[in-house]
Amino acid sequence: MKIAVIGAGIIGVTTAYELACDGHQVTVIERRAAAAEEASFANAGVVAPGYVTPWAAPGMPIKVMGHLFSRYAPVKVSLPLTGRELLWMWKWYRACGLDSYLVHRSCLQRLAFYSRERLHHITSSLSLEYERSDGYMVLLRSQRDSKMVQAGLQVLRDAGVNFKELCPTEARKIETALNPAMDFYGAVHLPEDEVGNCRQFALLLKNEAQRRGVEFSFSTNVSGITTNGGMLVATDQEGPSRQFDAVVLCTGLDSVRLLAPLGLRIPLIAVHGYSISATIREPLNAPASAVMDERYKVAIARLGNRVRVAGSAELGGSPDKKRSSSLETLYKVLHDWFPGAANLSGGVQEWKGARPMLPDGPPMICASGIAGLWLNLGHGSSGWALSCGSARIVSDLIGGKAPDLDMAPFGSQRLRA
Ligand SMILES: Cc1cc2nc3c(=O)[nH]c(=O)nc-3n(C[C@H](O)[C@H](O)[C@H](O)COP(=O)(O)OP(=O)(O)OC[C@H]3O[C@@H](n4cnc5c(N)ncnc54)[C@H](O)[C@@H]3O)c2cc1C
Repeated sequence: MKIAVIGAGIIGVTTAYELACDGHQVTVIERRAAAAEEASFANAGVVAPGYVTPWAAPGMPIKVMGHLFSRYAPVKVSLPLTGRELLWMWKWYRACGLDSYLVHRSCLQRLAFYSRERLHHITSSLSLEYERSDGYMVLLRSQRDSKMVQAGLQVLRDAGVNFKELCPTEARKIETALNPAMDFYGAVHLPEDEVGNCRQFALLLKNEAQRRGVEFSFSTNVSGITTNGGMLVATDQEGPSRQFDAVVLCTGLDSVRLLAPLGLRIPLIAVHGYSISATIREPLNAPASAVMDERYKVAIARLGNRVRVAGSAELGGSPDKKRSSSLETLYKVLHDWFPGAANLSGGVQEWKGARPMLPDGPPMICASGIAGLWLNLGHGSSGWALSCGSARIVSDLIGGKAPDLDMAPFGSQRLRA
């Protein structure tokens, strides 16, 4: 089939690759000049399937409210919120019930484990190098933090995930650069989880996709999609719309705008986050792999010769206005755990990105209800961890093959005509 993939973030690039492997003739259309320039640009890079859980969870609304006024809060709200954001919050609130949480968490985790398998398959079969390291450690500052994670650890146990609870001395044997002056309660170590540079993976896989015949049209904004028996894709460039047998929408947040004229409404909003990346000043003081400060929900990762610190969830606000207190939190957490690890005196990359978030959790990986139009979007805070599995599944669906997972929870029932 002749297929257009719209969007070259991590989701679009992995989708194009899988479709090409299945023998389709694929064109990727991307408004930016290169792949992975938006949400996939500088995320934390963590691939920890057991920690992929919906944001809509019992107790979350109270936690979010409790954080609103604290200085280093992991969740912030930028007022005023738009009508869309308020509606999203209402849907999110309703999805926080225990029953829906358990359903969404279990399907997200199945997708995440499947996705890690696909990531490993692609990485080893193509020998890709993307600044990856093994292991993920959750750092617990206090006994209270430790109590808070117990329910989650039971989930990991039930799912058969390999992890170990550690005392500080044991944690320091794995992450040897942890600040010796930092007094903390303990840690959870997941040796099979990993961290890697999502953007670098996307760029490498883009090259592999090109080798398989995928055409990339960069700097090309898609202005509309229409149907005429097949699919017509209009762009801002001069000339007629381009005709395809099928279109896969991997446009993250912009999906809302592209679907609206087709009569499809999707409850997707931006939950902004931040990262700072700086070169390592002294390797002996830097993390070996990735850690996450459970209290502040901030990840610190080693990516090649750089340290990346990422976190914060901001509802509302604009993509280009950076909140200084969110950035301060990242610097504080880095300094608490790995002082002196990074060159912070100049050349620090400060980034604000937008997680394309649906209120209930699972992304949409499905037919749209319009013949020929497919969706692979709304991966929220775990798009990198879910990308390779989501891409394989959408390619199976398009090819008429039964995917390896039950796709009902990832369906289009959440689209409103
Ligand atoms: C601070 C932060 C930390 C994170 N940490 C992690 C993590 O540790 N692990 C993890 O798994 N995930 C993490 N994430 C989430 C992850 O980054 C996202 O889920 C993922 O990047 C979403 O990928 P995407 O391809 O859907 O979106 P994007 O990367 O935004 O790609 C969408 C693409 O579509 C293009 N596009 C949009 N509209 C059009 C149009 N009309 N025409 C042409 N092109 C168009 C855009 O230019 C863009 O390139 C984090 C996110 C943030 C913000």
